[in-house]
Amino acid sequence: MNDDVLIIGAGPAGMAAALALDTAGARVRVVEEQPAAGGQVYRAVQRVQRERPEQLPLYGPDYARGLDISRQFDAAGIEISYTTSVWDISVENGVPSIGLLQGDNATIEKPRHIILATGAMERPTPFPGWTLPGVMTVGAAQTLYKESALLPDSPPVIVGTGPLVYLFVKQMLDAGMKPALILDTGPKSVDMSCWGSLLSALSTDFSALYKGWSWLREINQAGIERITGINALKAHGRSSLQSIEYRHNGKTHQVSTDLLLAHDGVIPNNHLTMAAGCEQQWNKLQHYWQPICDDQGLSSQAGISLAGDCAGIKGAEAAQYSGRVVGWQVAAKLGLVDQLRYQQQTIQERKKLKRIAVIRKFLDQHYHPFDEFQTPKENDTTVCRCEQVSVAELREVAAMGCMGPNQAKAFTRCGMGPCMGRLCGNTVSQLFAKYHDKTVSEIGHYRIRPPVRPLTLKQLSNLDLGE
Ligand SMILES: Cc1cc2nc3c(=O)[nH]c(=O)nc-3n(C[C@H](O)[C@H](O)[C@H](O)COP(=O)(O)OP(=O)(O)OC[C@H]3O[C@@H](n4cnc5c(N)ncnc54)[C@H](O)[C@@H]3O)c2cc1C
Repeated sequence: MNDDVLIIGAGPAGMAAALALDTAGARVRVVEEQPAAGGQVYRAVQRVQRERPEQLPLYGPDYARGLDISRQFDAAGIEISYTTSVWDISVENGVPSIGLLQGDNATIEKPRHIILATGAMERPTPFPGWTLPGVMTVGAAQTLYKESALLPDSPPVIVGTGPLVYLFVKQMLDAGMKPALILDTGPKSVDMSCWGSLLSALSTDFSALYKGWSWLREINQAGIERITGINALKAHGRSSLQSIEYRHNGKTHQVSTDLLLAHDGVIPNNHLTMAAGCEQQWNKLQHYWQPICDDQGLSSQAGISLAGDCAGIKGAEAAQYSGRVVGWQVAAKLGLVDQLRYQQQTIQERKKLKRIAVIRKFLDQHYHPFDEFQTPKENDTTVCRCEQVSVAELREVAAMGCMGPNQAKAFTRCGMGPCMGRLCGNTVSQLFAKYHDKTVSEIGHYRIRPPVRPLTLKQLSNLDLGE
C-alpha cells in the first residue's frame, strides 16, 4: 500500500513533521540519506551520547537538546529508510512521484503527499585557490568534529561570517583549541540600518542575542586575532594550501597556513524543490533562491509541502516548530484530522515561529553575504568545481550572448557534474545578472532534471516499475 506521506530528511523539521503525522494516524515514511536521524544541527547526537558521553557538553546545550526529539522519533515506530537518497521527484496532475535509491535498489514511489525537509547547506565561497586541498568549509570541519571528534592538527585560519563561525570557534575553545586568526567578513559593528530590527529582536528575545554576543566576548577574551574589513582573498599552494593572501586597509598581507576554513552563512538546500518544479523567488537580502510557500508549508506544487530550512533559513528551533505545523497541516489536508485539531495542536508553535521571525530579520540584515564570494571578480576563480569552469569561461560565453545558467550548461558543462549545480547555481545566476546588468530573478536558475543525483546503469536497470 502506498504511504500517505513520505518525508525527505530526518533533521528537526522532518522528525517533528513525522511525529505529528504519526500522532494524527497517517501512514508515514521518512527517507534520510545519513545513517541516523538528527540533521545538520543534531548530527550523530545519540551516538556521541552512547560512545563518548563525556564529550557531549563540549558541543553545547543546543546540541544536547537534539537527544529528546531524536529518541522520541526513533521510539515512535515510524518507518524510516536511512542511507537512502532521492534521484527523481515530480508532480503530474497533482500526483507526486519520487524516485528513491538505497544501495543499488532504485524505486519509484507514489505517496499521497510529500514533505521536503532537506535543510540547509553552506553558501559556496568561490575565490582564487578555494579548490586547493587544505581549504574547506567551517561546516565541514564542524561535521568532522560532531561525527568523529576530529579537530584540526594545527590552528586553522578562519574566514567568513555568521553564527556558525562563532559557534564553531566557541566549540574549538571548549575543546582546548584556538584558531590562528579570524578574517571576519562581517561588519565591525551593527550598522545604523539594522538598529530597528536589533531593538525589536532585543525586546522579543534578549537571550537569543545574548548567546551570540557571549560567544564573541569569549573569542575576544581568548586573545584570538580577529580582523574585519578584508578583501581580495586568495589561497596559494602547489598541490595543497601553503598560504593565504588578503588586503586590509590598503595593504596586502600574506599568512602561512595549511588549513583555511571558510564560511559565508547557510542557504536552503532546495535542489529537490527546484526539481519538483516548485516556484522560486530570489531572496535579495540573503542572496539565495527560496521556494515560494505559504505559512503552512504548502508549495506551489500540489502534493508537496516544505518544512524547515529548505523553505528559507530560520534556524534549528524554527525548523522543529515548522515541521510540527506542516505535519498537522498535511494531516488536515489529507482529511485525517479537522482544521480545528490542526489549530489546537499547533497554537504554541505558530506563536513561537512569529517570535523567531523577529530575531531572524535582524540576523539576516546584519550578516550580509560577502560580496566577493557572490560575484567573484578574479577570472581564474573556479565557479563549478565538478566541471572546473572558471569565471573567465562564464564571462566569455556571456559576451557571446549566453543569457543565463541553462544556456551556459550547453556551452561550458557548468552545473552538469556530480553535484548537478547544487554548489555553483547561485554564483552562476549572480554572475550572469551582473554581466548583463539584470536582476537575478530575470536571469533565473538552473532547471534541475532527473536524475538529481548520479545514478548508475545498474541501479537504473534494477528499477522496479511495478505494474
Ligand atoms: C554544515 C552545517 C552545520 C550546521 N550546524 C549547526 C549547528 O551546529 N547549530 C545550529 O543551530 N545550526 C546549525 N546549522 C543550521 C541548521 O542546519 C539548521 O538550522 C537546522 O538543522 C535545520 O533543520 P532542518 O530539519 O530544516 O534541516 P537539517 O537539520 O539540515 O536536516 C535535513 C536532513 O535532510 C537530509 N537530506 C537532505 N537532502 C536529502 C536527500 N536528497 N535525500 C535524503 N535525505 C536528504 C539531510 O541528510 C539531513 O539529515 C548548520 C548548517 C549546516 C549547513
